[in-house]
Amino acid sequence: MINPLLDTSSLPRFDELRPEHVLPAIRKVIEDNRAQLDELLSSGTTPDIDALVAPIEHMDHELGRVWSPVSHLQSVLGSKDWREAYKQALPLLTEYGTELSQNVDLQRAYVEVGRNLPVDASEASRCAVDHALRDFHLAGVDLEKAAKDRFKAIMQELAEAQAGFEHNVQDAADAWTLPITDADNLLGLPEALLSRAAEDARKASLDGWLLSLDFPTYDAVMKHADARDLREAMYRGWVTRGSDQGRDPKWDNSAAIKKILALRHEASNLVGFDSYAEYSLATKMADTPDQVIAFLRELCAHSRKAAEQELAELTEFAGTPLEAWDVAYWLEKFKQSRYSVSNEELRAYFPAATVNEGLFALASQLYGIELTVDPDVTTWHDDVRYFTVRQNGEVLGGFYTDLYARNGKRAGAWIDECITRQKLNGYLALPVGYLVCNFQPPNDKGVSLLTHDDVVTLFHEFGHMLHHLLTRVDFPSISGINGVPWDAVELPSQFMENFAWSYEVLTRCSSHHEYDRPLPRDLFDKLEASRHAGAALAMLRQIELSLFDFLLHSQYNPDAPVPVLEVLAEVRDEVALIKHPDINRLPHAFSHIFAGGYAAGYYSYKWAEVLAADAFGAFEEAGIFDEATAQRFRREILEVGGSRDIMQAYVAFRGREPTVDALLRQTGIDIS
Ligand SMILES: [Zn+2]
Repeated sequence: MINPLLDTSSLPRFDELRPEHVLPAIRKVIEDNRAQLDELLSSGTTPDIDALVAPIEHMDHELGRVWSPVSHLQSVLGSKDWREAYKQALPLLTEYGTELSQNVDLQRAYVEVGRNLPVDASEASRCAVDHALRDFHLAGVDLEKAAKDRFKAIMQELAEAQAGFEHNVQDAADAWTLPITDADNLLGLPEALLSRAAEDARKASLDGWLLSLDFPTYDAVMKHADARDLREAMYRGWVTRGSDQGRDPKWDNSAAIKKILALRHEASNLVGFDSYAEYSLATKMADTPDQVIAFLRELCAHSRKAAEQELAELTEFAGTPLEAWDVAYWLEKFKQSRYSVSNEELRAYFPAATVNEGLFALASQLYGIELTVDPDVTTWHDDVRYFTVRQNGEVLGGFYTDLYARNGKRAGAWIDECITRQKLNGYLALPVGYLVCNFQPPNDKGVSLLTHDDVVTLFHEFGHMLHHLLTRVDFPSISGINGVPWDAVELPSQFMENFAWSYEVLTRCSSHHEYDRPLPRDLFDKLEASRHAGAALAMLRQIELSLFDFLLHSQYNPDAPVPVLEVLAEVRDEVALIKHPDINRLPHAFSHIFAGGYAAGYYSYKWAEVLAADAFGAFEEAGIFDEATAQRFRREILEVGGSRDIMQAYVAFRGREPTVDALLRQTGIDIS
């Protein structure tokens, strides 16, 4: 009997897939791929696109198709067996991935393909080769022996130091608890949090409540706890995690930070960059460190006055000078008193089915595509629907939606690729994706009611999905969202969010679940007004984090390393309005940049937001449903994936480079 995971002739056979299929299937594909790679590299023929690049892309594609349902099911099913199978197979994939990315013969074969590319080669094929060569270079594959060995050793050390950093943050947070015996100290906190804290106290044989230092608890205390002392205590715990100011010096990340910065700098030098910031930008849309720094400073210069006004207004509202642990709290209170839009009131207008219909109608209007449900496709859960996307009768691809929260399902909202578009050597695979959310499950009448935040989330993820589905690129490594620079990949998703703030779109997405009436105008107006509350302060906060990250990585000097706290203090002097006490150790728990993939890349959030707002600006100028503008956006941005220089693509769409004006306007900042 054939392993159903290995059947890639059509959609995954979700009704037949079992955890025990995973290891044999992954082993088989990797084994086949290895054999095929050996054959390709020893064939003796001159490598070109058809003879080398296409088969390599196809091998990756096959592995992706077999792996995708596995990684998907382990995150949405909450099944121990699926997780276990996933965990067992993961090292095989990592090993195989490293093997490929470090394969010198393969790298040389790509060099030869690049050298022999015919002058009339397509932009996409040129790009597929360039990307592969770039990635080999960034992984140190083309270095001389000694340098290559050193590069590898650095990567190993760096991986360990980064993992150690993250463990310190986590262990320090886990060890931190705050026992509370006086109920008055907990006023304002949500019920769910209190019952969990009471339960934690019981488990620890304590009276009262025990607060822990996870993000949801921290966030709820900062926003809702009426007791100022409690907010301050929680703040102090949070901002000293993993530092010399924390409760135990064994979790101090000071040395790890120094080491990580030094190793990154050295590795960057080895592959020919002056700084890690330059290394990071080699795969991003932004060209130079100066460009990123100037971008952040420009945003800052425009936002500061608006943020000062917001802070003054907030301080007046609070009637007392605000400390770092007061701002989020008073902002919540301010929003309630000023705008009083309740999520529950809004929810009544947004049944999930109506929102979906409105969203799909919008996609049809903009891009002329039809989305129809296909009830015959087998899925992994009764909540799941499969939609086929067509244009003038031609199938472009399809996607699954899995919208509601349930036990064991990973939290949050995301999309993932099930199948990536590929059209090489006569073989065509159409794109298929998963769109996953965690909305409130349907009530006893079978209706799931969404908040407006949920609606925005759905539009965001659907924007990613269109990027994946509407691609016209034939090489999977650069089709859809693949190969798109990190600082631009959120452009299509954040762009779509804007439509969820249009009254016209929302009326089509809403209908009161009892009275069958669309969202009333006055409710929308309140919602829109609340969009800007605290927006400039939030903007400054993101700029502070981005600039700190970027200066740290661009100005690093191994002969005279500047203490990170000094860099932070300078950035805060320049950017921040909220004063933090001396014990604040933001860097020591800044996992995004010291343990995650955002090193010299935290600015990407703002960068992509600017692109999305500026792109939407083109729609506002022409009318947000303007067909020609939508066609252009689709052709120049959504269809090209990573096959084109993204700034060139953007200019082809917009007629000019992006400016920050649209984002500032959207944030409620006066730019006149
Ligand atoms: Zn996103």
